[in-house]
Amino acid sequence: MFKVIGLLLLFVSLPACSQQVEVESARVWTAPDHTRLIIDVAGPVSHQIRPLIDPDRLLIDIAGVTLPSKLPKVDAADPLIVRLRGGSPDGRNLRLVLDLKQPVRVKSTLAPPNERYGYRLVVDLQPKEADEAVRLAERAGDVRHARAGTTAGSGVAGLRELVVAIDAGHGGEDPGAIGPAGTREKDITLAIARRLEVLVEAAPGLRPVMIRDGDYFVRLRDRVQLARQHQADLFVSIHADAYHDPRVSGSSVYTLSFSGATSDAAKWLAERENKADLIGGVELTGVDSDLDRVLFELAQNGSLEHSRYAAEHVLTRLKGTGPVHRASVQQARFVVLKSPDIPSMLVETAFISNPDDERRLRDSAHQQRIAQAIFEGVQAYFLQHSPPDTRLAGATNGRQHVIDRGDTLGAIAKRYAIDVKALRLANGIDGDRIRVGDVLRIPEG
Ligand SMILES: [Zn+2]
Repeated sequence: MFKVIGLLLLFVSLPACSQQVEVESARVWTAPDHTRLIIDVAGPVSHQIRPLIDPDRLLIDIAGVTLPSKLPKVDAADPLIVRLRGGSPDGRNLRLVLDLKQPVRVKSTLAPPNERYGYRLVVDLQPKEADEAVRLAERAGDVRHARAGTTAGSGVAGLRELVVAIDAGHGGEDPGAIGPAGTREKDITLAIARRLEVLVEAAPGLRPVMIRDGDYFVRLRDRVQLARQHQADLFVSIHADAYHDPRVSGSSVYTLSFSGATSDAAKWLAERENKADLIGGVELTGVDSDLDRVLFELAQNGSLEHSRYAAEHVLTRLKGTGPVHRASVQQARFVVLKSPDIPSMLVETAFISNPDDERRLRDSAHQQRIAQAIFEGVQAYFLQHSPPDTRLAGATNGRQHVIDRGDTLGAIAKRYAIDVKALRLANGIDGDRIRVGDVLRIPEG
């Protein structure tokens, strides 16, 4: 099961020395706001980090670690690091030199072993200007936000777009579950998330926000926090998990649990997903202490109810893409769903541990079908539940039509004296297919 990912360092064996700790491999993950360097070490080591200027460099000294013969190449697009060099002048201690593109702030920690990795030295680099940049971005965001309330967006004056937070599970140091053929969950979730992003971007009245948009790790709480910063109206976390029984297959949709999990499998999955922070190399603090408070708030403001509405729409559409694992929306205590004010769901697109599911998850046509199903479910939910200050609601002035047996788009358009094209556009419908019981928004004539 254990797979070494990223860039392997070849270890040069030195004359026997019992105190020597081997550097096994190192990886560099580039995130939008930081770069993370991970150095696998075979045991606890002490280290020292020193910045140098003219040119900007970082010296990382690791005691009692031998020199690897080859260091990982850094992605040319990394905003902070040019390259990694290293040496072991005295043959006993390792000195890494990071050539930098700009001055950085550094945080480092020795992460203890977990179920996937042994001891690792985790070094996080952030641009020194980061604080200032964030402050400026926030100020710019405030201005934009204030303006959106008074001037026309793209179409309907004073109305906002509905924001869909798309959360690709896992990433970076945390590969998520790994299928029997080696497929990594983090790659599948990002591929489907990007397809969903394109669909949401193209839909009138909706706007996507990618919570993770590359191969790097984001803590579960930060995912929730990012969605709140972007004032998301819905949070969709995408996963493709594993179960110890490879026969288990199919997709399922989860919302946060009020009490216990709806099944052993749901509980097991939630526990597994909640471990992401540990595997990602960051310590988890205050694990579930505020879960009860969050649940109370959810119950108070109806977010939990809305999570379920949205999840049911998505599950209905997923049933058209292949077998489902559970025919109804499941509940469990997923940390990533703990937004008190944003309806949230977690989609297990399939079980990557099932060989058939794994093969389908790798297929781009199937990835597109899943993204389309999630999108249609999200859109159907918003068509029924968009707040009055949104373009989606404003475009229709609240008029709705519940599709009855025998209804056609043409007949509905005629009845409300509107254009079929306008009806399609307002509801994000492509062809002529409509479903009995769905609610259509009726745009102005
Ligand atoms: Zn997962």
